[in-house]
Parts: sequence; C-alpha cells; structure tokens
Amino acid sequence: MNFQVSEKHTPQPGSSRRQHHDIDQLVLCELNPLVVVDRLDGEDVPLTLLTFGSVREVCPKCQHTHLKLVLRQTSVRMAHLFCAECESCFDARYPNGAPALTI
Ligand SMILES: [Zn+2]
Repeated sequence: MNFQVSEKHTPQPGSSRRQHHDIDQLVLCELNPLVVVDRLDGEDVPLTLLTFGSVREVCPKCQHTHLKLVLRQTSVRMAHLFCAECESCFDARYPNGAPALTI
C-alpha cells in the first residue's frame, strides 16, 4: 500500500458532528482497505487521502497512534478511520451498533 495522507484543518460543515466525539467508547472494526478505497487495477499511482483531523480513538493495532477521520471522497467509498502508521482502515460504531461515521 502506498498512501499519501494530506491533512485538512478546515472546520467541518455542520459542527453538530462534534457531539459524536463526546460519546463514550466507539467500537472499532477493521475494514479491508481494498473495500473502502477505490483503486484502479494495475495502476501504481500513489493514492492521496484527504483526512479531516485526528479522533480520540487510537489504533487497536499500534496502540498509540490516533486514527484520522477520512470522509467519503473521490476514491473513498465510505467514511472510515485511518491509521497512518500501519495503514489500516477501521469502521466505528457506537456500542449500540449504530454507525458513528455516517453523516
Ligand atoms: Zn495502526
């Protein structure tokens, strides 16, 4: 995997999303990056992921890296949390099973 992560610090539209971060513990579930990120077969072009800041949750694999929020964009099929350290993608849900990243 060859990811290029570019950070964007613009305030998110609809700041009510911030409330989501106040809710206790999110349940993280690893996703297959191939499912989450659209890549052209046979193309060896580095993928540029636009992230929207770090979240409180740390990567379950690295244990110390804060995950970055990646919203849907051109080559991203679904919003997810991304670890720049081990390049893993995670889905986040509330303990009651409701998706935490859908807008
Ligand atoms: Zn990680």
